[in-house]
Amino acid sequence: MTEILRVEDLKKSYDGFLAVNGVSFSVQQGELKALIGPNGAGKSTCFNMLMGQLKPTAGRVFLNGEDVTGQRPRDIWRKGVGRTFQITGTYQSMTVIENVQMALMSHHRRLFNLSARAWRMYRDEAMSFLDTVSMGDQADRPCSILAYGDLKRLELAIALTHRPRLLLMDEPTAGMAPTARVELMQLVADIVRDQGVSVLFTEHDMDVVFAHAHHIMVLNRGELIADGSAAQVRANPQVQEVYLGG
Ligand code: ADP
Ligand code: MG
Repeated sequence: MTEILRVEDLKKSYDGFLAVNGVSFSVQQGELKALIGPNGAGKSTCFNMLMGQLKPTAGRVFLNGEDVTGQRPRDIWRKGVGRTFQITGTYQSMTVIENVQMALMSHHRRLFNLSARAWRMYRDEAMSFLDTVSMGDQADRPCSILAYGDLKRLELAIALTHRPRLLLMDEPTAGMAPTARVELMQLVADIVRDQGVSVLFTEHDMDVVFAHAHHIMVLNRGELIADGSAAQVRANPQVQEVYLGG
């Protein structure tokens, strides 16, 4: 197994309050791993440190064996870490495929010398990303009229244009109906299987987590209390206590 991400004793303190208190874990290539835990457990703080948005107070982050602790978001992104945003980041006035074309131009660093020919060339490439998320039939619709779940799928396509080795998704299904959640995570699971990308995600809906994640980590008050298969996590007394209050 190839280790893509390794986190060692990561800590983040906000004015003395340890929101993340010594977290260590790893993510393997082709792994779909969930980070769950109650509100305020420190999940987003962890994600923000992994993406370079927040500097850790202590600990180390390794990407493909390279120490990237404290590097800027741009540099982390260049090293193959993609993300989807909780707030959708598409250009509303453009069509679905134009948004993907824009992302491709950015990926190929062509944003500032954009020719009509290049733009057309990216259309074909963009279409293949839309097909990956089953949105080929919506290519020419303006984003402003998309259903929320479709916007989420478009975001996923946009994240994939960067060909990430690791995709970080903080609450990708927030605001979606239960069936749409399961569908979106099924799509993510298919992409993980077909492309060998690794995904780390947070999610509230336990049905979604247990249906799709290969491994599950449970964070509580800034500390990991479990890291294992669905069966292992379910059987963990500490996890039961946190989730059932018993
Ligand atoms: P989660 O994503 O698991 O809900 P967060 O990482 O957002 O948890 O928050 C973890 C804890 O850190 C919470 O107690 C939250 O109030 C606190 N926190 C988050 N961001 C900040 C901040 N910028 N300043 C101070 N406290 C923060
Ligand atoms: Mg959060």
